[in-house]
Amino acid sequence: MKEKLNGTILKGIGGFYYVETEQGVFECRARGKFRKENISPLVGDRVVAEVQENSRQGYVLEIQERKNQMVRPAISNIDQVMIVFAAAKPDINLQMLQKFIVYAEHLNIEPVLIINKVDLDPEKNYEKVTRVFQRAGYHVIEASAKGEIGIEEIVTTLKDKISVFAGPSGAGKSTLLNRLKPGLMLKTGDLSKKIDRGTHTTRHAELIDLDFGGRVADTPGFTSLDLNELQVEEIKECFPEFRTLSSHCRFNGCNHLKEPDCAVKAAVESGELESFRYEFYMLIQEEKKNFRRYK
Ligand code: GDP
Ligand code: ZN
Repeated sequence: MKEKLNGTILKGIGGFYYVETEQGVFECRARGKFRKENISPLVGDRVVAEVQENSRQGYVLEIQERKNQMVRPAISNIDQVMIVFAAAKPDINLQMLQKFIVYAEHLNIEPVLIINKVDLDPEKNYEKVTRVFQRAGYHVIEASAKGEIGIEEIVTTLKDKISVFAGPSGAGKSTLLNRLKPGLMLKTGDLSKKIDRGTHTTRHAELIDLDFGGRVADTPGFTSLDLNELQVEEIKECFPEFRTLSSHCRFNGCNHLKEPDCAVKAAVESGELESFRYEFYMLIQEEKKNFRRYK
């Protein structure tokens, strides 16, 4: 007897996909039609699996449309990406932070900012950063992976969602993940991780269950990125606070660059919009132009 079940792929190893259904986890292969269509199932995919009664095995028959997907780690249907930066050691690089946010927006994944290591900045300089990104509409969590700060808020935010951690190396992603999932035992500190990366090149991503509900990718995501794949028209969509203002621009489809009567530029002048946000927008538009010119 065969039976069709809905489920989610939690793990993929060597052509096998581990699909969690209401009847437990089944080890599935992908139907040949996916290969013909050049689709490969991804961790995070919601699927229909055909399983054999009295066996823990089956086939992935259908993959439901993906809400979004990431390449590193290769995961789909992500609810949020936790972008981790350190308050100090290393100091926050605002441009890099904004790149991560824009990239998450581009992938259609909600970014949540974690400013970690606040214990290393007793003067609380990071509060300025918190304020400006809150003003832009983002959820910002101030935390210390090594102390008691912000952990509860991170837990509440992760609960019942599918999340990926991202951010530059050294920010404390592995330390946070180890803390949230005791037993995960990710290596922390740069040197040991570099060695680790060399020996585990074929490792696949996995979604792991959090004890308090929700799932998280077991390895941190992108640590550096390139915004050159974005189109000029797409970039402005990655600034949520511009989106709400743009209905007041004179031109439909205003790119907020040289156009007259632009509500975004007016908001920068009046101080309603953080000027560094607009400067960063100009910067990536400019980088994009140069990139195309020299290609
Ligand atoms: P990752 O590269 O983002 O995964 O960063 P790690 O988790 O490896 O952390 C880098 C270094 O920062 C390690 O030596 C950690 O022990 C340290 N670290 C992580 N979180 C904190 C924190 O909240 N406070 C302090 N003081 N150090 C931290
Ligand atoms: Zn405009």
